Amino acid sequence: MPDNGAAIVTGGASGIGEATCHALAARGLDVAVADLDPEEAGRVVEAVTAATDADATAVEVDVSDEAAVEAAVDAATDAFGRLDVLVNNAAVASREADGPVTEVEDAGFDFVTGVNLRGPVYACKHAIPAMLETGDGTGVVVNNASVAALVAEPGMDVYTATKGALVSLTRSIAVEYAPEIRANTVCPGVVRTPMLESVLEETDDAGDEGGAGDANVNDADEADDEAGAGDATDVPDNLRRMIDDTPLGIGDPDAIADAVAFLATDRSRYVTGATIPVDGGFTAR
Ligand code: NAD
Repeated sequence: MPDNGAAIVTGGASGIGEATCHALAARGLDVAVADLDPEEAGRVVEAVTAATDADATAVEVDVSDEAAVEAAVDAATDAFGRLDVLVNNAAVASREADGPVTEVEDAGFDFVTGVNLRGPVYACKHAIPAMLETGDGTGVVVNNASVAALVAEPGMDVYTATKGALVSLTRSIAVEYAPEIRANTVCPGVVRTPMLESVLEETDDAGDEGGAGDANVNDADEADDEAGAGDATDVPDNLRRMIDDTPLGIGDPDAIADAVAFLATDRSRYVTGATIPVDGGFTAR
């Protein structure tokens, strides 16, 4: 990886993506914060440039739209003069759009697969040629999947399927484009981010009649603080079980971002095609 390396992070305006932008910039990479939300992306750019010596730029993109992805990759490459790292992080997890497979509707299926699977495919399609273009042979793809790709996580079956597909896609890329491109997958466990909040809020709305209470991720957090991760309350059963079953408790976005940054830089130069749980031990049980 050259000193003037550059990265594009999809979904970089929030949660794990935002933390990833900071982690990459802290390691000397210029960063394109590519997101559906240009205002939040701009906020992250300001924060990154204030905190580091790296350059950063905001790029508005809907990753499910190929033309927009191509334009975003071009914008990032133009901004920094090269592209070395693609982090496919943008995804949607929605209990409204998704569900058990017997309840899946086309609109939800298309929405979830559009962002979570077509998005990374489009980004790889356009970013890999840009990374090969450097001539350095040190391009990197890091795909952000989920423990849902590794073990059953009932309730959002299309989400789970897209994350499994991402693991397979990553392996194919690692073999097809070696040695010039490395590709690896991280599989986060339960991480305290706005995505988790939104899943909890949807569950809360649906469960109002049933008395689910005002569940939000901080309830789990407060319960953690009071009595350890195993006592999280007021969260949906499956998430409470996940937190209960995570030896290190609920994770912070920075912890995932550090793993992504490891995979994005030369420290991991002999790692490719790997699927790495960053899950506080959830899948160790
Ligand atoms: P988040 O909701 O906090 O952030 C997602 C970002 O993606 C947002 O900024 C959003 O604007 C952007 N985005 C959404 N749709 C987009 C689109 N079509 N095009 C471009 N950008 C789009 O999410 P997060 O919790 O930080 O999750 C990041 C990644 O980590 C996702 O791939 C998610 O599946 C994975 N993950 C999260 C958890 C968790 O517990 N939070 C667990 C496992 C895996």
